This record gives sequence, C-alpha cells and structure tokens, in this order.
Amino acid sequence: MVPKFIVGKCIICGHSFMNNNIYYNKKTCSKECFLKRLSVMNIGSICSLETREKLRIANIGRKHTEEELKKQSLVQTGRKIKPHSEEQKRRIGLAHKGMKHPPRSEEWKQRMSIIMSGRKCNPLSDETKRKISLTLKGKQHSEEHNKKVSLAVNYPSLTEGASDDDRKATVD
Ligand SMILES: [Zn+2]
Repeated sequence: MVPKFIVGKCIICGHSFMNNNIYYNKKTCSKECFLKRLSVMNIGSICSLETREKLRIANIGRKHTEEELKKQSLVQTGRKIKPHSEEQKRRIGLAHKGMKHPPRSEEWKQRMSIIMSGRKCNPLSDETKRKISLTLKGKQHSEEHNKKVSLAVNYPSLTEGASDDDRKATVD
C-alpha cells in the first residue's frame, strides 16, 4: 500500500491533498477543482463543446467561497501582461534606434504616396474658405515682400536660384 503523504494544497480550493490523489500532479485535490483549474487556464482560448459542457455540469450549483475567489483571482492576475517598466522602455527604444528601413520599392513609394495624399486635410467648407480669405485680405505685406512676390510671378526664372531664406521671405 502506498503511504499517504500530504503533498500540497489545491490551487483552486486550498484543501491539502495526498500523493495517491490522481489529480495531485495537476496541483488540484479533485476532479472538480481540476476542471475548474482548466477553465481558468483556458480563459481566452476556445474549448471544445464537449469540454464546455463538462465544465458547465461540474460547476452547476457550486458556489465559490471567498477563499476560492481570491485564489482564482491570483491565478488570473499572473496571466495579465504587465506594462513595461521605464527601464524596459528605454532598452526597447535603444534597440529600435539603429534599425534601418528595408529598401523602399517604387511600388511601395507610390502606394504610400496615394495613402498619404488622401490624408492631407479634409476638404474646406465654404465658410472656412471665406474666413481664411478674410484673414488673408486683412494681412499687411511689406514693400519688400510685395516686390518679391511680383518678381516671382512675372519672372519665375529669376527666383529659381534663390536661397531657402529668400524663398521663405516670398512665402511670408
Ligand atoms: Zn480543490
């Protein structure tokens, strides 16, 4: 006869169990607790209909004690994905910094261009356009600015070689 030893506590109900218990290596004391443990572990995954039916029957009429609920909650807490710590975030950031984009194909660029052009801005309503127009009309330009704009419009070739600063001044 196999000597009976208490080998541990059921992770579901907290009862001690012996090593002659066929569920002891599953860390549960009974079939009922084992099925419960399975159901806890399978949360989020799809069980077969048969498994679900078994669980349903096993759980009928059973009320959880405070203790059980606490334990189940603990089991589930361990399953949650913890947010990254600051240190982890820093390391992830560093790992990504040296990353290079894969070479962009012409096709990729074209597709991206189409996607991005669709996002520029929403079409302006007439009301918005009117407001913008009013705002711009009220704006006073310097003599210098007006001269540059006039030059750019009438003699575009003259301003082609202009430096970035000159161009900015024209836009202003
Ligand atoms: Zn148990």
